[in-house]
Amino acid sequence: MRKYLFVLISVSFWWSITHAQTPVAVAGPPAPRLVLVISIDQMRFDYLDRFNPLYKGGLRQLIDKAGIFTNANYRHASTETGPGHSVLLTGSHPNHSGIVANDWWDPYLKRVVNVIDDPVQRTIGGEGRASSPANLVTFTVGDALKAKSPRSHVVGIGLKDRSAILMGGHRADAAYWFENAGGNFISSTFYMDAAPAWLTDFNRKRSVDRFAAKAWTRLIDDVALYEKYAGKDAIESERDRKDIAFPHPFKGVPPQEEYYLELRRSPFGDDIVLDFSLEAMKHHELGKDADTDILAIGFAATDGIGHNWGPDSQELMDQMLRLDGVLARLFAHVDSTVGLANTLIVLSADHGARPLAELSAEKGLPAKRVPPKVLESAVRTALDNRYPGVKNLISHFATDVYLNEEAVRQNKLDWKEVEKTAIDGLLSTGLVEHVYTHDDLRSLAPSSDPDLELFKNAFYAPRSPHLNVQLKRYIYVNSALGGTGHGSVYDFDRHVPVIFMGRGITPGRYADASGPEDIAPTLARILGLEFPREPDSRVLVEMLPAAQSAPSQTTNSHP
Ligand SMILES: [Zn+2]
Repeated sequence: MRKYLFVLISVSFWWSITHAQTPVAVAGPPAPRLVLVISIDQMRFDYLDRFNPLYKGGLRQLIDKAGIFTNANYRHASTETGPGHSVLLTGSHPNHSGIVANDWWDPYLKRVVNVIDDPVQRTIGGEGRASSPANLVTFTVGDALKAKSPRSHVVGIGLKDRSAILMGGHRADAAYWFENAGGNFISSTFYMDAAPAWLTDFNRKRSVDRFAAKAWTRLIDDVALYEKYAGKDAIESERDRKDIAFPHPFKGVPPQEEYYLELRRSPFGDDIVLDFSLEAMKHHELGKDADTDILAIGFAATDGIGHNWGPDSQELMDQMLRLDGVLARLFAHVDSTVGLANTLIVLSADHGARPLAELSAEKGLPAKRVPPKVLESAVRTALDNRYPGVKNLISHFATDVYLNEEAVRQNKLDWKEVEKTAIDGLLSTGLVEHVYTHDDLRSLAPSSDPDLELFKNAFYAPRSPHLNVQLKRYIYVNSALGGTGHGSVYDFDRHVPVIFMGRGITPGRYADASGPEDIAPTLARILGLEFPREPDSRVLVEMLPAAQSAPSQTTNSHP
């Protein structure tokens, strides 16, 4: 099971060096029985306001009754799913969590490593990738809670493995996620030795197969409403440039993987996560007694839909209306079992999304969809011209560049010169704003570049690319024919909702700057846990009762 002595040692070492302060005294309302953390993959903040008049369910409840932070932005450069989810409950930037990207190049293994890869584990409940939080070199609020209150339960669930695992942390009772191959919810030997009967039963019932041979149609049969809030349907550069208009029939039939992939790109991906979460709540007895439990759920249909049809599509609008309903069902269930009065709900997202490049170009912006090979061949050509006959100077190209340190040494080349040659190649395309090297990111020299801090927060030397590429704002590098993505430092990728609702939270809209890294230290304050925070993060005191909002006597930040 937990074979991560090394990780635990490093975590406890880090804990000890970052915890030279007295515990925060908390005299507020009694701790909630359940902390329900909801991550909506790729939910931009503006989705909350754009469709506000249409929400009637869970999003309505949040808008009317929650503390909403209207100016919450990620403060790291790698706005991807792994890094985003790692921040939500650790409060650590990637420079302190090691989660620099969804995957990275490992120079010793000589291959790309996924953020939750753990080859010593096996899956439980179905086939899939061997996974655990081993790559997370920090800890979550759940880890701190379990240390203080061993009877507390912590469970992470997600459509995606990385959201479930990274929000759960090292001491989670379990993490479960949906696996395309086979279409089951699965877990890992990191958490358990065998599948519990309820997990086997859930998968055997095949409720995830109920959408087969159906089509995704608009929730509300009123095309004019969709045109009013989202513009026209069937934008040419959506998805594969073919499946661009409602209705969207499902391709594939269970148990074909194609069907499960379709499910992930439809609103029903959230329904299956909800169904599973309610089942898991029951069997893990979450919120059942006075010992606070944490349930973290990653809903990811918004991400699949945003990637395919973009943030301005009717499809995305429909997804938000359906998510409103999914959250209504979730909140109603929590209310009838735990009581919303005993629950603290937190909702955020792991990153935002950029508009479809072609839609931005139509507005006169210098937006372009660029295939990755344009940048890669520019770098390779520059290196070939400067070092004729020297091969393999690039270990891995993913817009960001991993150079091959071994090849540079063997050929007795000057590292700085190799870097500069590759950077010149990247800049020669006209697509690149700036390239950050390890030296840039290690430097303590003052700088007037506001993006440098975002790249520094994303920098963890053993895993970060040698060349960290900041593309120009409207440049989207991807090999797909249509659709869009995220991953940049720009506001559309960084601005997300940060919302708290429940006991002790003063409802309202709070406009002061904040970020998802503020969630964990704020939860820790509410739960009375010792917890480190980043120098640029804060406890979201404006929504807390006076007793919890008083600053602690000693600084709470990293040394
Ligand atoms: Zn994501």
